[in-house]
Amino acid sequence: LFAAVEMAPRDPILGLNEQFNADTNPAKVNLGVGVYYDENGKLPLLRCVAEAEAQMQAAPKARGYLPIDGIAAYDQAVQGLVFGADSAAVREARVATVQALGGTGGLKIGADFLKRLSPDAQVLISDPSWENHRALFTNAGFKVSTYPYYDAEQRGIHVAGMLATLQAAAPGTIVVLHACCHNPTGYDLSAEQWAQVVEVVKARGLVAFLDMAYQGFGEGIAEDGAVVQQFLAAGLDFFVSTSFSKSFSLYGERVGALSVVCVSPEEAKRVLSQLKIVIRTNYSNPPTHGAQVVAMVLSTPALRAMWEEELAGMRLRIREMRQALVAELKAAGVSQDLSFVTRQKGMFSYSGLNAAQMQRLRSEFGIYGVDSGRICVAALNGKNLKAVAAAMAAVIAG
Ligand code: PMP
Repeated sequence: LFAAVEMAPRDPILGLNEQFNADTNPAKVNLGVGVYYDENGKLPLLRCVAEAEAQMQAAPKARGYLPIDGIAAYDQAVQGLVFGADSAAVREARVATVQALGGTGGLKIGADFLKRLSPDAQVLISDPSWENHRALFTNAGFKVSTYPYYDAEQRGIHVAGMLATLQAAAPGTIVVLHACCHNPTGYDLSAEQWAQVVEVVKARGLVAFLDMAYQGFGEGIAEDGAVVQQFLAAGLDFFVSTSFSKSFSLYGERVGALSVVCVSPEEAKRVLSQLKIVIRTNYSNPPTHGAQVVAMVLSTPALRAMWEEELAGMRLRIREMRQALVAELKAAGVSQDLSFVTRQKGMFSYSGLNAAQMQRLRSEFGIYGVDSGRICVAALNGKNLKAVAAAMAAVIAG
């Protein structure tokens, strides 16, 4: 049966991790990951999460099946966070939200639903994008192309190219957009540029799919969600996938959601019924633990305040690391303009280093980033920063 099965290519980032683990260099640093580490290089367990779990353990409950669309209080909390509890769309029950297996699960449910709805639609993702966007939508049966995004020369976004591609897209084209903290580049559109995107999406009748995997890691919870408000204000129907992997440091619990904004509550009910079929025929219903933790934290004022403070702590530490990296690179003799590093948002930085330089960082210095030049700023800390900057300066000098 399996004689003809071919070996699938390795996931490039997981492959990098394996290479890192096998490296015997005691000074090695892993900047290839997409994970937030604290100042001590440890994956944090947030206090708000530990506190919620302690409360849950104090009154243990049996675990029956959840509804197909997940915990109602969780879905409601997601809506409050993503759209604002007093947003008209939420108040009017025009948003269909389902609990999902991480942000990936939200994207997958959305992709499968869209395939049933518009089987011939094209999908556009940013160039470059999180690698899984292409794979997810391709596996759902779509033809996936890209819109220009990263402008290497300008160290920024090719906004004109992006808008021109959206302008030329056929009505009904699905456009996957990073709501904030673009992965992998770190470059986000300004509010004015988003307004232009919203305008084209509306004028051309495109379908916006906002991927919000890092809400709170850029400028703040509301600030990072501002683009959602722009889409709401334009009166569009659109998709938003949510991930709590990073913002709650709950990577392994697979906590996320998919929300679909509709024009009427009646339409939202029909959409919800279809999302439930997608879920039912994939994994039946979601797991309890992570969503219970997130729902409790978001809806308990003291825990919520604690979470917001802890999230701000992660956000600020990343910003400090960006500033410190620039300072150390300058101290190590790098003379080029490095302001792009602090302009970027979220966990990642497109460092501007090429594949050969990234390979040298690995082989000579034990510093692991992605060949595209992407490094995870959230994996930098006071202990590894100087060595990373010195190594980067050495490969930049050539
Ligand atoms: N979208 C983007 C842009 C991401 O970077 C990630 C995670 N790295 C995800 C979605 C998926 O998140 P999750 O781990 O919650 O599935």
